[in-house]
Amino acid sequence: MMNFYMPAKVFAGEYAVRDHMKDALKGFRGPVLLVTGASSAKKSGALDDVLSALRDAGLESRIYDGIRENPLLTSCMEAGQLAHDAGCDLIIGIGGGSPMDAAKSIAIFAAYPGLSEADFYKKAWATPLPVIAVGTTSGTGSEVTAVSVVTDSTGRKHSINDPRLFPVASFGDPRYTMSMPLPVTLSTGADAIAHSMESFFSRKANEFSRAAAIRGIRLAYAPMKKAAAGEALTLADRSDLYEASILGGLAISVTGTAYPHNVGYFLTEHCNVPHGFACAVFLPSLMEHIRKEAPETADAFYSALDISEADMRALIVSTLPEEKLGLSEEDIENELPRWENNGTVKNTLGTVTQDYIRGLLKSV
Ligand code: NAP
Ligand code: FE
Repeated sequence: MMNFYMPAKVFAGEYAVRDHMKDALKGFRGPVLLVTGASSAKKSGALDDVLSALRDAGLESRIYDGIRENPLLTSCMEAGQLAHDAGCDLIIGIGGGSPMDAAKSIAIFAAYPGLSEADFYKKAWATPLPVIAVGTTSGTGSEVTAVSVVTDSTGRKHSINDPRLFPVASFGDPRYTMSMPLPVTLSTGADAIAHSMESFFSRKANEFSRAAAIRGIRLAYAPMKKAAAGEALTLADRSDLYEASILGGLAISVTGTAYPHNVGYFLTEHCNVPHGFACAVFLPSLMEHIRKEAPETADAFYSALDISEADMRALIVSTLPEEKLGLSEEDIENELPRWENNGTVKNTLGTVTQDYIRGLLKSV
């Protein structure tokens, strides 16, 4: 069986916005809401390219630049109201996963202003506004997923996954990722690797997702090794990393993620660990877990990658910061029920028990 659905038009490569945004904007009358973080949309050059395409198309725009890392649901509500009041017919998210994911949730609130938090999560909405994603990091693959991860009013990260949230078109120009500082390159690259690896070790993996996952990790391996060694990345390296992130996104758009992602949310919420690091810290244990519980899958993975298990582990460890987090026993115990019936935990090959997760959290 090889089922998949990925309706976004994807333009990944140098000058993608300049060359193709015009087509994607056809049929919209504006105004358009541009959703960004604090400064990277400008710094990367992406915002200027998008503004120039909008000018050429004769479309007006408004900017909401209030999205921060791990975007808040309340910011999405606020921006959605703004888009609604301005009569916008399109949302363009420009940035890393945070603005791109936020754009998807904003598109819901723009179509249903005043929608409550509960109804948002219950999916008591029909058709969000269309979204275009313009990526400036090489990590989340949000360009090609139907997922929006936002932080709810209690401070928890939740991902909402629905085919209506696929962007209509996505753009990624590796030139935009040149301005990423090293820790952002490492964390987002680790996220891309995590997506591919978790997807491969998922119960839902199929021929398409496995092929995307393997190619994604193979493309990311050399530039991540360079970055971890502190070497500067060339545009060709950046391009490989960007494509790796898209391939990782395609892989999880079929399978979803495995437990490292969901357990990683907790590290972000409690200790402010950047998303990619928070997930990748659990990859070495995922590798051990799969070696023990599904050895044929482990063999198939490293042989398709043509990278040894030891080298893969060494790469991951070399990308991670060294600090110890020291979560309190109480925090861990309070949080454990969260993973009792969790989809990503059940999605992981083998058996992942509460005891196992307790051990993982104590070890970071
Ligand atoms: P991010 O949170 O979007 O951005 C991290 C930091 O990098 C921000 O300070 C941002 O600055 C900066 N930055 C972004 N692009 C830059 C550039 N080109 N040059 C310089 N700085 C740049 O990071 P992310 O890792 O891409 O996204 C993480 C979020 O995505 C998390 O909330 C995670 O849960 C979610 N996620 C979603 C999916 C999915 O399938 N949808 C998958 C995995 C993760 P600004 O604030 O100025 O923009
Ligand atoms: Fe991720």
